[in-house]
Amino acid sequence: MTIIADSLQAIQANIHQAKLAAKRDDEVKLLAVSKAQPPEKLREAYLAGQRAFGENYVQEAISKQVQLTDCAIEWHFIGPIQSNKTQLIAQHFDWVHSVDRLKIAARLNEARPPSLAPLNVCIQINSSEEASKSGVDTASLAILAKEISAMPRLKLRGLMAIPAPSKDLTKQRAQFKIVGDAFMQLQQQGFELDTLSIGMSDDYVAAIHEGATIVRIGSTIFGARPSRQNN
Ligand SMILES: *Cc1c(COP(=O)(O)O)cnc(C)c1O
Repeated sequence: MTIIADSLQAIQANIHQAKLAAKRDDEVKLLAVSKAQPPEKLREAYLAGQRAFGENYVQEAISKQVQLTDCAIEWHFIGPIQSNKTQLIAQHFDWVHSVDRLKIAARLNEARPPSLAPLNVCIQINSSEEASKSGVDTASLAILAKEISAMPRLKLRGLMAIPAPSKDLTKQRAQFKIVGDAFMQLQQQGFELDTLSIGMSDDYVAAIHEGATIVRIGSTIFGARPSRQNN
């Protein structure tokens, strides 16, 4: 087996263990975060069975997509969104995790080609209440969710968050619980949501305990990221 195949298998085993510990039998999807990785590495992961890949930079992602057209990959956009990139994102991705304001949602809705299924979106929330962090605050969440739900070319699937990194499992869980609680609140308000995108290489076990349905993992699969080239 290759190192990437090995890592994927080890992570799947950890996901399975965490689900057992959390008494869960629903699905936790592994999103392979491939930013800054060359297309050969994505192909290697694909050949090991990985199907969902997450990218942060539009141009970089599109250039990889061109080289992987023979692979049935589900592409997820997870990076910060500039409004001049919404058209390309709407054309080239199946999912967007990082919608954090109405203007961006409206532009994605407008640009989603009719030939494609509605774009799956998650609202990124700011769970740490730090003014500098991106993501909508919990107070404005329901308003944005309602606005997105009314957009025909978008399908609101759930929430995404990137809490401040911590090595302490208790702190990790406390941060993810804020996101999980916001998610349940929206469900109680009648939003039909099935996706909680939380957890990265260093905290995905904690995220699974707090209800993650997608974990976004990069360095543990592909190794340390090569430094990013301009694109
Ligand atoms: C880079 C990135 C990840 C993956 O981070 P790792 O620590 O390498 O697993 C997950 N989510 C987002 C939004 C990222 O930008």
